[in-house]
Amino acid sequence: MFWSRFVSERRNWEMPDEVCVTLPLEPMPKVPVLPEPGAFGAIRKRYVHNGVDLYCDEGTPVHAVTDGVIVGIRFYTGFWDGSPWWNSTKVIYIASPNNEFVWCYGEIDPYSEHIGDHVEAGELIGYVVPVLKQPGPHGHTSMLHLVLKRNMKVNTTWSPGQSQPKGLLNPTSYLLDVIK
Ligand SMILES: [Zn+2]
Repeated sequence: MFWSRFVSERRNWEMPDEVCVTLPLEPMPKVPVLPEPGAFGAIRKRYVHNGVDLYCDEGTPVHAVTDGVIVGIRFYTGFWDGSPWWNSTKVIYIASPNNEFVWCYGEIDPYSEHIGDHVEAGELIGYVVPVLKQPGPHGHTSMLHLVLKRNMKVNTTWSPGQSQPKGLLNPTSYLLDVIK
């Protein structure tokens, strides 16, 4: 089956043993897996989905899933991005203390705007904002778009027909492990 190529890559990288992963949302929505459209690796019209979409209500608090340092806060989707059919949102990037990976929390309003701030797993880092102007097929306008990558230099743009970008990691198994 076509999807098996992505599923086999789920464990292409292991989180270091000493890293504690906690859940980003409370209550925690279902973690989408292929072939669901919010899953990592889902093929969309013009790109392949590079993270997981955790559908939730507007204003849901977002918590850091690991300890780390805020290394970036940027505008994410919306008018600036040439996608006026979406609302403007931001993304916050948090690097692990040893710089082995970066979690990217997209479609949010960051609580902190301070680059260099240390955060602990479970700490409040922002609130989910409505990215969609109309509810999607899942019934929500809001979601946490969660991406995991090796470092800030990784280009996470994933075009249909391309293999998974080097340095883009699949966060699905870590989230599913915490829920267990
Ligand atoms: Zn997404």
